[in-house]
Amino acid sequence: MWYVEICEPGGQIFCPICGTKNIQTDPDFKLTECKHLESITTSLAFGEFEIDKNGIFEEVFTKYNVDHSLEIEEFVKILKQKLGNEFVLFETFAPAPSGASTYFLYRFTC
Ligand SMILES: [Zn+2]
Repeated sequence: MWYVEICEPGGQIFCPICGTKNIQTDPDFKLTECKHLESITTSLAFGEFEIDKNGIFEEVFTKYNVDHSLEIEEFVKILKQKLGNEFVLFETFAPAPSGASTYFLYRFTC
């Protein structure tokens, strides 16, 4: 799995494959799915998955969070080891004071 950090306070997220604007925050928050977007989670609500089409996040979370101490950094590390190169995880940081991270998992498929 590839991993890319983006620091983009504007908060727009485009699918790198088909160009769909998956996340729009201005003027209103809007989520548009495309077939490449697999899963979304945030550090604020880790464990709740906004989108998780094939249950990839859920599966890892359930398996590794048995003692309820799974950190999101560890979660990303497991995904890196587990998923093949057709997956890309984008992490975006919100500016301080929020400091929240949002994670978008894409699958490169035709
Ligand atoms: Zn797409």
